[in-house]
Amino acid sequence: MACGIDALKDRFYDLNALGTSMSVLHWDQQTYMPRGGAAARAEHLGILSRMSHELLTSDETAKLIDQAEGDLQGDEEAEGIVRNCRREFENATKIPGKLVEEKSRLASHAHEAWVEARKTDDFSKFAPQLERMVEITREEAEHLGYEDHIYDALIDMYEEGSSEAEARRVFDAIREPLVKLVKEIQENGRPVENGFLHGDWPEEKQAAFTQHLVASVGFNFDHGRQDVAPHPFCTNFSIGDVRLTTRYQRYLGSAIFGSLHEMGHGLYEQGSPMKWDRSPLAGGVSLGVHESQSRLWENIVGRSQAFWTRFLPDLQGTFHNLTTVKLDEFYRAVNKVEPSLIRVEADELTYNLHIMVRFEIEKDMLSGKLAVKDLPDAWNSRYEEYLGITPNNDADGCLQDVHWSMGSIGYFPTYTYGNLLSYQFWACLQHDIPDAYDSIARGEFEAIHEWLKDKIYSKGSLYRPKDLIERVSGKPMEADDYLKGVDKKFRAIYSI
Ligand code: MG
Repeated sequence: MACGIDALKDRFYDLNALGTSMSVLHWDQQTYMPRGGAAARAEHLGILSRMSHELLTSDETAKLIDQAEGDLQGDEEAEGIVRNCRREFENATKIPGKLVEEKSRLASHAHEAWVEARKTDDFSKFAPQLERMVEITREEAEHLGYEDHIYDALIDMYEEGSSEAEARRVFDAIREPLVKLVKEIQENGRPVENGFLHGDWPEEKQAAFTQHLVASVGFNFDHGRQDVAPHPFCTNFSIGDVRLTTRYQRYLGSAIFGSLHEMGHGLYEQGSPMKWDRSPLAGGVSLGVHESQSRLWENIVGRSQAFWTRFLPDLQGTFHNLTTVKLDEFYRAVNKVEPSLIRVEADELTYNLHIMVRFEIEKDMLSGKLAVKDLPDAWNSRYEEYLGITPNNDADGCLQDVHWSMGSIGYFPTYTYGNLLSYQFWACLQHDIPDAYDSIARGEFEAIHEWLKDKIYSKGSLYRPKDLIERVSGKPMEADDYLKGVDKKFRAIYSI
C-alpha cells in the first residue's frame, strides 16, 4: 500500500487520466467531430468534469495532501508535487460547488448568446449574460480571496503570484513607448508591401510546408501531430503526445506563424522530463511563461531575417508565385505594422495595445466603474486612443473575443507577459549563445533547444512562475528587454 508522496502521486495520476480524457474530447470537438456529436459531447464533458471535481475535492484527497506534506524530508521534487496538488485542491475547494455549476451552465448560454450577438452585430443580445458573468466572477473572486484588488484573485488562477498591480506596472511601462513608436511608423516609416502574401494558397501545400517547417525546427512528429482547427491551439495528452493545430487562410502568414506559435507551446510540452509524465510537475508552469515560448519561436526566431535566409528558398519551392520575392522584401512583409481592429490578426507591435484595452475594461467592469451596457463606448474610445482607429461595429469591436463569454476574466494580461518574457529570455539566450542568429540562418537549432530545455522545459512546474523567471533571467519580469528589442527591430525595418 503506497503512502505519503506515492499515494498522493497515484491520486493525481487518476485525476490526470480524467483530465486527459476531457482534453482528447475537447481536441476532437475542435478538429474532427461532426456537428451531430455536439449534444452528447457536452454531456460527456459535463460528467467527466463533475467526476474530476469530486475526486479532487474529496476528503480522501485532502488527507493524502496533508500526509504527503508531513513527509517531505527536503526533497525538492516531492515539495513541487505537493505544492501543485495543494494549489489545485485549494482553488477547487474554495469555490462552492453550486457556484461552479452555475458558472458552467451560464458559460454555455453566454457562449451561445455571444455567437449570436457577434453574428448579428447586436451587443444587447450578449449584455445580460455578460452582466451575470461579471457578477458570478466577482463572487468567485471573493471566495478565492485577495489582499489588494479583486482582480488579484482572478489573474492568479492563470499566472500564479501575479496581481492587478503587476499587470498595471507592465502596461504603464509599455503604453507610451508603444503608442509613440506605432505613430512614428505610421507617419514616417518607409512603407511595407505585403500584398504578395495574400492569395489562394492550396491547403495541401500549406499543410505540407508548415509541417516541414515545424519538423525542421525540431517538433517531434513521433510524439505529436498537426491538424486543422478554426481557432488554432495546442494541447497534449502526455509528454509523448502533443497536438498542434493550425488554419489555412488567404494571408499565408496566418498558417506559417500560427504553426510556429503553436509549435513553441508544443516544444515546451515535449521537453518536459519523461519521469514526470502525467504528474503535476509535467508541462508548462503558467500561461505567461507558456506564451513566452510560443512568441519566442513565432516572433523572435520565426520573424527574423536569419530564419528566412534558411527557409525562403523552401517556401518558394512550394509556392512558385513567390519566386521573385527578395529576402528583405519578405522579411519586411511579415513584420508589417498596421493598427487593426482584430487582436488575433495584430502584428507584434500593436498586439499589446489590444491587450491593454481588455485589461483596463475588464478591471473597470469588475470594480463596477464601468456598467456592462457602456462597454461598446468604452471599447471604441480606447481603440481610438491607443490604436488610432474606431470599430464600425461591435462584432469587430467588443464582441470579437470568446474569453469573457466563457468567464475567463483576468486571463488577457498573460498574453502580454508572454511577449515581455520572450524578449527577456531571448536576451539571456543570446548572451550565452552570441551566434544564435547565425545558427538559425543555417537551419541549426540544437543549441537553442538545449538552452531552452536546460533553463525552462526541464523545470516543468517544479518552481513557481516568478521563481522560474528569476532563475532563468536573474530578474523578475520587466519591460526593458522587450521595449529595447522591438524598438531596435522596427526602427530598422521602417528606416526611422
Ligand atoms: Mg498562445
